[in-house]
Amino acid sequence: MISARIFILIMSIGSLLYGIIISGISDKHRKKPLPEEVSDVYNPERYQTYINFEADKKKLRNKYKAINLILDIVLIFSPVYEYIDNWFNGNPYLIFLTTYMIIWVISTIIETFASYEITFGLMEKYGLNKKDLKEFVKDEVINELMGLFITVALLELLTFIGEHMSEWTNGFSVGYKVSFLICLGIVAVLFIFFVVAQLIGYAVLKKQYTFTPLEDGELKDKINALQADSKKKVKRIYIYNESKKTTTKNAFLLKLFWHREFGIADNFINENAEDELLAVLSHEIGHLKHKKNILNFISYGEYVLLAIIVLLLMVNPEIILICTNWIRESFNITANNYYLIFIVFGHIIKPISFLSGLFSMYKSRWEEYEADRESVKNGYGEALITTFKTLSSDELVNVYPHPFIEFTEYDHPGMYQRIKAIREAMK
Ligand SMILES: [Zn+2]
Repeated sequence: MISARIFILIMSIGSLLYGIIISGISDKHRKKPLPEEVSDVYNPERYQTYINFEADKKKLRNKYKAINLILDIVLIFSPVYEYIDNWFNGNPYLIFLTTYMIIWVISTIIETFASYEITFGLMEKYGLNKKDLKEFVKDEVINELMGLFITVALLELLTFIGEHMSEWTNGFSVGYKVSFLICLGIVAVLFIFFVVAQLIGYAVLKKQYTFTPLEDGELKDKINALQADSKKKVKRIYIYNESKKTTTKNAFLLKLFWHREFGIADNFINENAEDELLAVLSHEIGHLKHKKNILNFISYGEYVLLAIIVLLLMVNPEIILICTNWIRESFNITANNYYLIFIVFGHIIKPISFLSGLFSMYKSRWEEYEADRESVKNGYGEALITTFKTLSSDELVNVYPHPFIEFTEYDHPGMYQRIKAIREAMK
């Protein structure tokens, strides 16, 4: 059997090659003329700017892809896992934490350089950046630390589950009934974890922007009229200071279990674009009114399937044990290094996670079309199209993505498909 190191290498190179093919498809597609629906998004001069922007973006992306591939190869074949294994004498929590921290520090340094180049090189060059260095540092620190904290906490939790599974199941011998109960327990603990993670995310969002409640008045009345026939209503409406970071006109509906709020970018208010704002809010209310459909039930089905697979593995753990042995032998270590286990398992389940990703993106795009139809219903179809067109030109958006790339990578419809669908709904 090939070494797990070679397996990881093959997978990394494979995904790099896939990226190159996709990028080639995209370049070729960009040479086609824009269809009528999106032909007036850019004027000729701005379109040239967009083309240059794409070219600069690609250069930057390729540079960091190359750096990351080299880093991956160095890490795969480095003896660092052996050293860590020796240092911590088989303590899986410290082994995981040390491995993760070493790799986190290296990749965060690279990512920060990339992010700096994107913000102050690329975005600045095309007038898309409004952050100053202080704002940039603040955002980077907050995002990196939050990501680190949540990932380490989650993976240490999974390590704990992995380490105790044999003990809880009395050496995997308790049968389906007890294994099922253990599964339920794990699901409950993970659920609590994600609730806490969401609350942290919410707190961070509130730190990154200043939210001011929308004052009573005509605008608020209009927003309330839009949601008059919705069963669920949003009472908290805030304006947030997007203008200190970007020029984006955006509005979102934030849902946290019992809590709902609208966030409206101040750029909407500053630029006096009430019709466009109401068009976007109608869209958000469309999301609010969404009734569960077959797509939602299929996605619940996915969770059930996942739980069944976990249950089957708990009762028949041989394949997992073979895998973890294989990883230990390949990396010449004596104790489980959960970092490596997560990486290898992540690669093994890639075909499944790819398919599941395709489905959830399809579902997400479907819900976007549905929400757009709510805007059309309220008479804001034309305003919504105007908003999308201005936004696309302002932010140099690819308005005509290749259908395959849209299908595999977009969780919101591409502008061409989206505007076409709005026009059809308006008929
Ligand atoms: Zn939406």
